[in-house]
Order: sequence, then structure tokens, then C-alpha cells
Amino acid sequence: METKQVKAFGTEASTQPLKEMIIERRATTAHDVEIEILFCGICHSDLHQVKNDFGGAIYPIVPGHEIVGRVTAIGNHVTKFNVGDLAGVGCIVDSCRTCNPCKDGFEQFCEEGATFSFNSIDQTYGGHTFGGYSESIVTDEKYVLNIPKTLDLASAAPLLCAGITVYSPLNHWKIGKGSKVGILGIGGLGHVAIKIAKAMGAFVTVFTTSQLKVEDAKRLGADDAVLSSDPEQMKKYLGKLNFILDTVSAKHDVNIYLNQLTVDGSMVLVGLPPEPLSIVAFNVIKGRRSFAGSNIGGIAETQEMLDFCAKHNIAADIELINIQDINTAYTRLEKGDVHYRFVIDMASLKK
Ligand code: NAP
Ligand code: ZN
Ligand code: ZN
Repeated sequence: METKQVKAFGTEASTQPLKEMIIERRATTAHDVEIEILFCGICHSDLHQVKNDFGGAIYPIVPGHEIVGRVTAIGNHVTKFNVGDLAGVGCIVDSCRTCNPCKDGFEQFCEEGATFSFNSIDQTYGGHTFGGYSESIVTDEKYVLNIPKTLDLASAAPLLCAGITVYSPLNHWKIGKGSKVGILGIGGLGHVAIKIAKAMGAFVTVFTTSQLKVEDAKRLGADDAVLSSDPEQMKKYLGKLNFILDTVSAKHDVNIYLNQLTVDGSMVLVGLPPEPLSIVAFNVIKGRRSFAGSNIGGIAETQEMLDFCAKHNIAADIELINIQDINTAYTRLEKGDVHYRFVIDMASLKK
């Protein structure tokens, strides 16, 4: 297979900082789109993988799955894109296409295992996948998204993971006018969830460990904010929320939040604390409450989310960084000190 060498940023081991490296990208095949990457968001999942929080990481890792850029080449059979178009790649770059979840548009639940943008065995081309902290990416057009022109490109990048990860459960659980929604954790995912849930018509309250974020929540669009370490404030919504989206990245007690749910209310986990969480039986049997999970979203739903965000003028609040500052950004991300998503200006990789 013909390949091309491109510059990237990645790491050789969980204990090593990220640094510049060279990776191979395949030449475009018939259905492929080659994208020059202009911006790439930094998701907390990038950090989990680099640290090998869940085991099984394949090094070297080039993270990044919030990818936006411009099409630079297309294969003979590409129909959705032309050279020069804006394009995006999220978490999924391939799947079997024939199993029931794939046929139903849930590629993230492919029975053969979806191929993720990075740190995933590439079932079609061999080796493992490299993500968006790189000059370019080559992806089958089926997994490439159209980026609406009206959105600021750098601020739109985080929609490719943070956006779809929160949109999908809000959509599935039919959040709309009259819904009372709680968002737990105001990081990359949480702050986009506030904006999307508001645009869907919900009353939105956030739960945060940060007094600064309590003060900023209304600017982000929330109706109310609760400092989760204050037991007095935590009493305000007991039994009052229909739906809670939990975006917390570390171990935490979910039981206090289950008790904020109404009868038949649902709490949905999208955060990935590496340690198991425990649930007290009474907190779900009382009120017939549900505790569920959700994983990104399929390709068609990701396009639907991008179009929804364009319609409502929703994008992330970002801190744009040069790739040379990636290790400082990771240290800050680990501490929850981001307002509210780091995005890499990939032009810096050319320096
Ligand atoms: P992030 O920007 O770091 O935000 C996580 C937020 O969780 C922090 O800002 C903080 O919010 C809160 N938090 C962190 N540690 C905490 C602790 N010990 N106790 C209570 N709250 C804590 O991360 P992100 O990129 O939004 O991702 C969030 C999680 O979702 C990560 O685990 C990521 O891997 C996962 N994820 C899952 C999917 C999926 O498909 N399911 C997709 C993308 C990401 P406050 O400061 O407001 O308290
Ligand atoms: Zn992500
Ligand atoms: Zn499949």
C-alpha cells in the first residue's frame, strides 16, 4: 500500500510527554478523503488513553478525534466531498457496515468493534490508527462529516466528540420544553451540554465542584448552578430533575445525584472514571429511577448534531493553543483547569 509520511505529535509510553514524530498515512483509495487538519480539539479521552487509564493502549499514540480541516484530495468514487470543502472527522473512522447496529446508524456499537480515530486496530488496512494531532488524515468518506460554514471552525472542532457525546443522550431521552435537566461537571462535554440542552428547550442546572464555574454557568446559558460540595445547595433539586447527564472524568459518588431525580428520572453516564462506581439499591428502586450510559453517537446523528448546532449557533468556548504547548495543556486538563476546551491550531505543527 502506498503511504505518505506526515508530521504528528504523540507519545511512545504512558510515562513520556508528547513530542513531534513522523507517522505514515495511506494514499487515498477510491472512497477516501484526505483532509489537511486545521484544528483539533483535546478531549479528556485523549488524556485517559495516553495515560493508559483503561489498559490496552497501543503505543506510539497520536491522539485527537475532534478534527476539522479542508479536503486536499479525494478518491475516484467519492461523491460527498470536493477538494477545498470543509470536513470533519470524529471518533469513528470505520466499522463493519453490515451488522444490525451499523445498519441502524449506531456504528459506535458495531458488533465487530468500530475502528476509532486513534489507538484502535485498523481492521481494514492493518496496524493501528493515528488521530488528529497531525498534519493530515485519510478517511473513508462514509465517516467524514460536513462542517457547516456558519460555525467558527476552531470552536466547531470539539463538536466532533464533546458535541455528539452530549447531543446523543439528550436526543435519545427526548429532552425538550418542560424537561428539567442537570449537567454534572462543566468541562469540555459539560459546557457544550448546557448549550445544547438549552437549545432543546430544557431548564438546565449544573453541578460543579468549582465556585468559579458556578459564577460562570449562567454566561454559558444555564438557568442555575449548584456547588456540589455544599450540602445545603445540594438539597435544592432533590427529587426534581427528569434527567441528569454525568460528564465527570474521575471517581465520584453518583448516589447523591440519583436522589436529585424525579420518579422515572434517568441519570446517564458519559464520563469515563477509570474506577468502578457503586450504587446504593434504594437510590434507584425508590422512584423507579434509571442509571444508564451512552457512547458518542453514530455518523448520521453526528451530522444531525452539527446541523442542529449551526442552526442554534452553538460551538465550544475554546482556548486555542500551539501544539508545542500540548504537555502544559494536558497538565491543566487533568486539574479541570480549562475554559472550556483546548483546541490545537494545527498551523503550529508546520513551525
Ligand atoms: P473535562 O473537560 O476534563 O471535564 C470533566 C469535568 O469533570 C471537570 O471539568 C470537572 O468539572 C469534573 N471533575 C473532574 N474530576 C472530578 C472529580 N474528582 N469529582 C467531581 N468532578 C470532577 O473532560 P471532558 O473532555 O469533558 O470529558 C469528560 C469525561 O467524558 C472523560 O472521562 C472522557 O473520557 C469522557 N468521554 C466520554 C465519551 C463517551 O462517548 N461516553 C466521549 C467523550 C468523552 P467541574 O470543575 O465543573 O466540577
Ligand atoms: Zn472525545
Ligand atoms: Zn458493524
